[in-house]
Amino acid sequence: MYRTHNCGALRMEHIGQEVKLSGWVQIGRDFGGLTFIDLRDRYGVTQLVFNMEDDAALCEQARKLGREFVISATGLVRERSNKNPNRATGDIEIQVKQLEILNPSKVPPFTIEDDTDGGDDLRMKYRYLDLRRNSVQQNFVFRSKLALETRKYLSDHQFLEIETPFLIKTTPEGARDFVVPSRMNQGQFYALPQSPQTFKQILMVAGMDRYFQIVKCFRDEDLRADRQPEFTQIDCEMAFVDRETVLQTFEGLTKHLFKHTLGIDLPDFPRMNYDEAMRRYGSDKPDLRFDMEFVELTDLAQGKGFPVFDAAELVVGICAEGQAAYSRKQTDELTEWLKRPQIGAKGLVYVKYEADGSVKSSVDKFYSPDDLKAWCERFGAKPGDLLLLLCGEAEKTRKQLNELRLEMARRMGLMKAGDFKPLWVLDFPLLEWDDDSQRFYAMHHPFTAPLPEDAPKMASSDRNELKSIRANAYDIVLNGSEIGGGSIRIHDRDLQFRNFSLLGFTDEEAEAKFGFLLGAFEFGAPPHGGIAFGFDRLCAVMNGQSSIRDFIAFPKNNQGRDMMIDAPSAIDQSQMDELALVVKVKPN
Ligand code: ASP
Repeated sequence: MYRTHNCGALRMEHIGQEVKLSGWVQIGRDFGGLTFIDLRDRYGVTQLVFNMEDDAALCEQARKLGREFVISATGLVRERSNKNPNRATGDIEIQVKQLEILNPSKVPPFTIEDDTDGGDDLRMKYRYLDLRRNSVQQNFVFRSKLALETRKYLSDHQFLEIETPFLIKTTPEGARDFVVPSRMNQGQFYALPQSPQTFKQILMVAGMDRYFQIVKCFRDEDLRADRQPEFTQIDCEMAFVDRETVLQTFEGLTKHLFKHTLGIDLPDFPRMNYDEAMRRYGSDKPDLRFDMEFVELTDLAQGKGFPVFDAAELVVGICAEGQAAYSRKQTDELTEWLKRPQIGAKGLVYVKYEADGSVKSSVDKFYSPDDLKAWCERFGAKPGDLLLLLCGEAEKTRKQLNELRLEMARRMGLMKAGDFKPLWVLDFPLLEWDDDSQRFYAMHHPFTAPLPEDAPKMASSDRNELKSIRANAYDIVLNGSEIGGGSIRIHDRDLQFRNFSLLGFTDEEAEAKFGFLLGAFEFGAPPHGGIAFGFDRLCAVMNGQSSIRDFIAFPKNNQGRDMMIDAPSAIDQSQMDELALVVKVKPN
C-alpha cells in the first residue's frame, strides 16, 4: 500500500494517527537538527518533519532527497507549532518514522510551484513537469468537471452523445484543412474535421432528434494565444426546433455550468442584434463588463472648419470616466498605439472635461468651449471625464474605436475577473462580400438558414439585396469572447443548392462536395438547428484567463509544434513510398 491518505487530506482531527503518504518532494528545508520536506500530490501539500534527535540516520536520508523525488513516508500526524493558514493542511505535519524512495529525479529545469520561472518553450518541452504545478492541475480539475456537468445537463435534456468520424472530407468552414494521405487509396486524402457540422445535420435527418459530442476539431490556421490547431467543442444539434428553443436550451446549459462549477447564478442573458452591437461597440462580441458605449458626434463636429472631421463619414467616440487627468505624454502614447498598423487609426482627438468644469481639447483651434461642452453633454460626461474621438470611414472607425475601448478598459482595470457578462448576438448577415475575390462568403457557414422573413431575398441577383439578408444565427458571447455560435440550418434541398451557388459553387462542385447532404435532404430532412461551444475557451473565460493553452494538457506552440514529442516530423522513406508521396522540401 502506497498511502492511507493523499497530500491534501489531513487536518487537526487526524492528530495522533499513523498515516502513510506518497508524492513528490516539492522542497526541503534543513535546520540542522530538524529537516522539513513539503510533499506534493494532486490534492495538496503536506509538511513532513524529520528530527535528528529521534532518528539521525532517517534525518540524513531526508536531507539527501532532491526536488521531485517520489517518496513514501509513514509517520504520526501532529499539530504544527508554526501553522500555515494559506494551506489546507497547514495546521498539521507528519513526524516521519519511515521513508522510502520510490524513484529519484533529476534536478527539474524550472521550479514546480504556482509561479514558475520556466519560459514557455521549456515548460512545453517538459509539459509533464509543468502539469505537476498545482495551479495548472486545478485547470484540469475544472475542465473535467465542466465536461461532466455538460454531459449531465445535455443528457437530462434528451441529447444523445454520438461520435462522428475524424477521417472525412473537406468541410468548407473558412479555415484550411489538415489532410491525411490514404494508403489504400493512393493519391487521395482524408481531411480532419474542422467541425462535425455536416455529420450532425445528417444525424438529424437520421432521426436522432438531439445530438451532442465533446469533440476535437482541427483547423490549420495561424496561431494566437486563444487558438490551437486542434481544439475541443461542445457540439450540439436539435431537430424540430426554432431559434428560441435553441437559445433557451443553451442559455440553460451555460447557466447550469456556471452554477455547478463556480457556484454562480447567471441572470437571463441580454440579446442584441449584430447591427446594434457594431453600432454601439464596434464589435460582434462586446465585453459588457463596462460601459464606454460609442457616442456619435458627426452632426455636432462637422461644419466648424476642422477639415479632418468635415471629410469623415463618421465621428464617434467613447467617454473614459474620471480620466481627464491624462497627461500630454499619455494621450501622445495612446495616439501612437492607435496608429500602429494592427489598428491603423490616423489620429486621436481628445476632450478633457476638467474637474473645475472647463474643457480642454486637442482641437481647441476649431471648436469653442460651448461646442465642446455640447459634445460632453451628448456623452453624458461629468467633470473629470475624458472623451476620446476617432473619425473616418464608418465601419473601419468603429473597429478601431472598439480596440481603443478595450485598451482603455484594460488600463482602467475594468475587466474584472469574477465578473461575468454573457450576451446573445443575433441576426448576423448571411453573406459577406469579399472585394478581392469578388465573391460572397458565408459569415457563419454555408448551411446556415436565412431569417424566414429574409428568405425570399435569396432569389435576388442584386448584390446589395443579398448583402442585406440576415442569417438565423446566434453567437453566445461572454466577457468579450465568443464562446459559442450556431444557427438554424437550411433543410430544404433547393434552398441549400441556391446558397451554394450564391457562394460561388458551380452545380457540379456543389454536387461533388456536398452531394451526400443534398441527397439526404431529399429523404425527409426535419427542420433543425444547433450550436457549438469552444470548450477550451469556455474553460479559460470562466477562469478569467486569456490563454486556452493552460486548459489543454498537451498544446502546440505558435509554430504549431508539439515541443514535447517534437512533432510534426519527417516520416521514413518506406512510409512515404507506401503512401506514394514525394516531398519537395527538406524539413530543417
Ligand atoms: N459547426 C459550427 C462551428 O464550428 C457551429 C454550429 O453551427 O453549430 O462553428
